[in-house]
Amino acid sequence: MHIQILTIFPELFEPFLTTSLIGRARESGALRVEVEDVRAFTRDKHRSVDDEPYGGGGGMVMNAEPLIAGVRALAARADDGEDRRPRVVLLSPQGRRLDESTVRRLAAEEALVLLCGRYEGVDQRVVDTVVDEEISIGDYVLSGGELPAMVLIEAVSRQIPGVVGLQDSVEHDSFRRGLLDFPHYTRPREVEGHGVPDVLLSGDHARIEAWRRRESLRATLAKRPDLLNEAELDAGDLETLEALARELQRPLPAGLQERR
Ligand code: SAM
Repeated sequence: MHIQILTIFPELFEPFLTTSLIGRARESGALRVEVEDVRAFTRDKHRSVDDEPYGGGGGMVMNAEPLIAGVRALAARADDGEDRRPRVVLLSPQGRRLDESTVRRLAAEEALVLLCGRYEGVDQRVVDTVVDEEISIGDYVLSGGELPAMVLIEAVSRQIPGVVGLQDSVEHDSFRRGLLDFPHYTRPREVEGHGVPDVLLSGDHARIEAWRRRESLRATLAKRPDLLNEAELDAGDLETLEALARELQRPLPAGLQERR
């Protein structure tokens, strides 16, 4: 996958792109990421990227022209396999909130261009001319789109085969099958009087799998019962959830009661 980022602060990406899974994915070629400075696409001698808003009011607005020229230049050199346009994403608090299904949809793209806003945001004509979709990482406002772009890249890259060493661990990640992940333990066997569930030390893989499924259901029922309405559940899971609901003294979500 080829990701190109347009930002006025390219230096923010350096450690992120060279460390851990992302760094290794880039070295292996599974992921190609380039960061471009918006100023490279300015045409005035001051290389300005922002100006005062029409209509007055506080703050500055990012100029449309360098961003539009930047997106077009990046799109022309995108490694999108079949000569298609890359998908252009503006990180914005006004966008669709990033979730697992959006992450997977974007991971299926050959090429992405990520636009990072700053100040009061970008001139609306950028959105109207070159942006395919706006994505938000949550209902709060940050000072720039760089951290949201990193969030998106990290989430999307986990879905690309070869980025996470053991694809099995991605399969069990929270949200992957509509459930939260099960609890994890590692050495030592005891921490401040808290041990490790015996089943995990048993070497019995079938029992371990059953325990993990149950604990995944338990975590979801306790922490995010809303997810259960859309989760892939079989008859055994529904029985387990009824037992867990009694044990935790919580009602099953309404949508689930109908599925029984
Ligand atoms: N005035 C804008 C508004 O209220 O919609 C907010 C502008 S914000 C200070 C500057 C930039 O940060 C935005 O253009 C966007 O690129 C980025 N940004 C801020 N919060 C974000 C969020 N929750 N998700 C994605 N991007 C965000």
